[in-house]
Amino acid sequence: MSTPLLEVTDLKKHFPLRGGFFGGTTGYVYAVDGISFHIEKGETLSLVGESGCGKSTVGKAILRLFGITDGQVVLDGQRIDDLPAGTLRPLRRRVQVVFQDPFSSLNPRMRVRDILAEPIRNFGLARDAADLEDRVARLMDKVLLPRDAVGRWPHEFSGGQRQRIGIARALAAEPELIICDEAVSALDVSVKAQIVNLLQDLQQELGLAMLFISHDLAIVEHMTHRVAVMYLGKIVEVAPKRSLFAAPKHPYTEALLSAVPVPMPGAARERIILKGDVPSPINPPKGCRFHTRCPYAFDRCRTEEPKLAPPRTAMAAGHLAACHLHDRPDAENPLALAKGEAVLPV
Ligand code: SF4
Repeated sequence: MSTPLLEVTDLKKHFPLRGGFFGGTTGYVYAVDGISFHIEKGETLSLVGESGCGKSTVGKAILRLFGITDGQVVLDGQRIDDLPAGTLRPLRRRVQVVFQDPFSSLNPRMRVRDILAEPIRNFGLARDAADLEDRVARLMDKVLLPRDAVGRWPHEFSGGQRQRIGIARALAAEPELIICDEAVSALDVSVKAQIVNLLQDLQQELGLAMLFISHDLAIVEHMTHRVAVMYLGKIVEVAPKRSLFAAPKHPYTEALLSAVPVPMPGAARERIILKGDVPSPINPPKGCRFHTRCPYAFDRCRTEEPKLAPPRTAMAAGHLAACHLHDRPDAENPLALAKGEAVLPV
């Protein structure tokens, strides 16, 4: 088996809460609390979950925007979580990010040419001025913007066009991994689809790996290879796309999927409305963190934390879920059988 491009092991990020008379630590926000996953070269992994589940913190930890509390992040065989701050330059080139808000992520005082030229210069990628110009022009081609728009300012573009510029800027550094942090969430529905298609095309053309962070399972369905579902700082299910969409093995995924529109007439899923709000990451529930909202919770769920493991009834290898239901006989497990769309061979 080849080495994964990215391997995250037992990653934890706990943010201290300061307060009290002396401003000391009064507790922690357990934003990410022991998650493991990998991304192969050229693969797209989507990290999905509700707002506040910790998924964006995972992206920022990989980018080394802050230190981590515990665990390991390994890029192409090299540990990067403990690299000293002065040695992060190669990492910055190899891992790029596309942010949610194309309006605030582009410098309004720079023309598009300079926005795209900056990473090329910073990482010394161009041979000379002509090569730099050529690279900028080819980046515009890649994101389907006219070459002659390089002289314009960010405010002269629409939201979708700005996100294309953000993608071109990420590509300028010739990265191997792009982290898309809610990269299409702020866009209109039709523009969203165009940007998702563009990302998918670029991913295939350039052989990029992608960590696609989103709160919306419907968005990731058409462009991802695998999906990891996060709830309250933990990964509760990870699986190849078709296995997860056809036969989810965690009640939280089942509920998220029930809100995704089904393209086939007459195949509508029954919508599952979860009770209550997501508990606070300052004081997560004991046992299974989802037990306060889970429609199938039983006694064991309130005391024992389930581990990610392959359910007996999973459709594909690599499908893991953290749920005690899978230790029960199939007749007592509402997730034993496929519930999703038509089951396709995986
Ligand atoms: Fe629900 Fe229990 Fe499974 Fe948690 S372990 S998801 S509470 S059934």
